[in-house]
Amino acid sequence: MRAVAALRAVKVRAPAKINLHLAVGATRPDGFHQLATLYQAVDLYDTVHARRDGSGAVTVTVADAAGDPVLGVPSDGSNLCVRAALLLRAHTGLTTTGVALHVLKRIPVAGGLAGGSADAAATLLACDALWRTGLDLEALLGLARRLGSDVPFALVGGTCTGTGRGELVTAQPAGPRLTWVAATSSRGLSTPRCYAELDRLRGRERARVAELPTALLDALRGDGAGLVDALLTTARNDLTPAAMALRPGLGELVRAGAQAGARLAMLAGSGPTVLFLGADRSHASRLAAQLLGRIDVDGVHLLTGPVPGAQRVG
Ligand code: ATP
Repeated sequence: MRAVAALRAVKVRAPAKINLHLAVGATRPDGFHQLATLYQAVDLYDTVHARRDGSGAVTVTVADAAGDPVLGVPSDGSNLCVRAALLLRAHTGLTTTGVALHVLKRIPVAGGLAGGSADAAATLLACDALWRTGLDLEALLGLARRLGSDVPFALVGGTCTGTGRGELVTAQPAGPRLTWVAATSSRGLSTPRCYAELDRLRGRERARVAELPTALLDALRGDGAGLVDALLTTARNDLTPAAMALRPGLGELVRAGAQAGARLAMLAGSGPTVLFLGADRSHASRLAAQLLGRIDVDGVHLLTGPVPGAQRVG
């Protein structure tokens, strides 16, 4: 029998997500909200480098593309990468194997693009390969669900419906390629705060049921040609009023993008990133150039989807 050489290092990248539709229903007894969402993975990636650590320690460092530290991301045990590695280790019974993780962060922090979830998904895949734990996708999804609502989708990628609190994902036909401009802010918006504000705004109104529009799902499951029209007629992100209450300038940014010719302008997840749908890549580039000049926009990214979920790249 041939011995399998131990791996010393593994690199995995995982994509940001956008919500093509986000319906938020009632608050559940566990405090989470009932969601019905259509996720799409886009080509903006965080990369997790995992290196074997013989001491048994699980550590993480985080830097941006320039090598600078990233504000707002913890480097202690609360970092989602550390939690993911420790969860995988406990699940597989490996107690003495450690890992030094390094995150190359490109996904804006607390931007509504689920960067932390991408990092957790990438870590699960990286440690599974590094430690040769050989878990199948179902087992990895089970761990991902315990780490956060968006983590399972970051593993699967493509285009998926998400139900429950978003963690129950079902793959859908990819649909046509879509190009978006994401206008980002360097000041993040806390997702829990956004949901709390939504509850406050909704007050005592009757509990809602979160459902995806049939027209949207039909368009996706057909030949995909009608998807953009279906998006335009059914567009919805229920977190919008809450995010706009917390960050009043967002409404103006959405209007400015629509006036600049975006086919659709909507909040990304819980914001503060705003997404503008371009007719094609060159239209999106022109939109991006216009938005970059605004005082309330700190960065723009051209995002194309769908792309696959977390993947080993080294
Ligand atoms: P959510 O996925 O909850 O909608 P988001 O996409 O708006 O959130 P994230 O970038 O995922 O924002 O970060 C949410 C918070 O999670 C951050 O403010 C940070 O404190 C914490 N966090 C923990 N680990 C990480 C990580 N590896 N990367 C980014 N944030 C992390």
